Amino acid sequence: MSKPRVAIFDFACCEGCQLQIVNLEEEILDLLGVADVVEWREAMSEQSHDYDIAIIEGSITRPEDEEKIQIIRSRAKILVALGACATIGGINKLKNNFDLDDVKKCVYKEDADMPHLETAMTKAVDEVVKVDYKIHGCPIDKKEFAYVVKCLLLGKKPEIPEYPVCVECKAQGNICVWERGQICLGPITRAGCGSRCPSVGFRCFGCRGYIDKPNVTAAKDVIEKYGLTVEDLKSKMVLFGSAQGPTNE
Ligand code: SF4
Ligand code: SF4
Ligand code: SF4
Repeated sequence: MSKPRVAIFDFACCEGCQLQIVNLEEEILDLLGVADVVEWREAMSEQSHDYDIAIIEGSITRPEDEEKIQIIRSRAKILVALGACATIGGINKLKNNFDLDDVKKCVYKEDADMPHLETAMTKAVDEVVKVDYKIHGCPIDKKEFAYVVKCLLLGKKPEIPEYPVCVECKAQGNICVWERGQICLGPITRAGCGSRCPSVGFRCFGCRGYIDKPNVTAAKDVIEKYGLTVEDLKSKMVLFGSAQGPTNE
């Protein structure tokens, strides 16, 4: 039986999630033993149009990116979004809150009009094509990556937590950072990171995206308990949950 063919692609991102894959070190050799990696710009020069599983890092920010991801989708049997940039638009989506010409000028100054800097509203991958599985986080958790890929190679559906970070945080016996005046997004954010941030005394800022059915009533109770408002909470949701703002599209 031939090995599944895997291709890894990147769009707008910092490539930190791919770095997490590389950080798997010896475990990556086990994965490579049961799959053929046929394209991965960060690690090899070969390219291929023939693959079963496409792993996509980065968000979609240009018209040509949309065309490219549609072609990848048409070639792949399974498409996996890797990391917050791909799963929810990530930090890149912050720019959707501003006029895009102003964003370019702010970053590139007098070079802002160069044609290769043309940009559009940032989209998560599933805003352009169907995504079969998501590996959340900024960056991803390398162990979760290995787990998801192993499941896919075995033909099994990976189980991704559908409960909030608070569950993992409480299980670890952490003191809630709300007690220290921090606005933590743990009650509405998808678990799976082992409550990485609150476990070191820092609030969760929502990098794994929000759970599908957040307990809004409980979240409101927490906000009220600490004398804050929903607007206070929303102000902390911008980094990884930017709503679409003004556009020049
Ligand atoms: S999700 Fe975070 S770590 Fe991963 S590519 Fe995007 S910015 Fe980098
Ligand atoms: S620190 Fe954050 S994740 Fe932990 S229990 Fe408090 S709100 Fe939940
Ligand atoms: S605690 Fe929140 S911000 Fe930190 S890694 Fe987990 S989901 Fe991301």
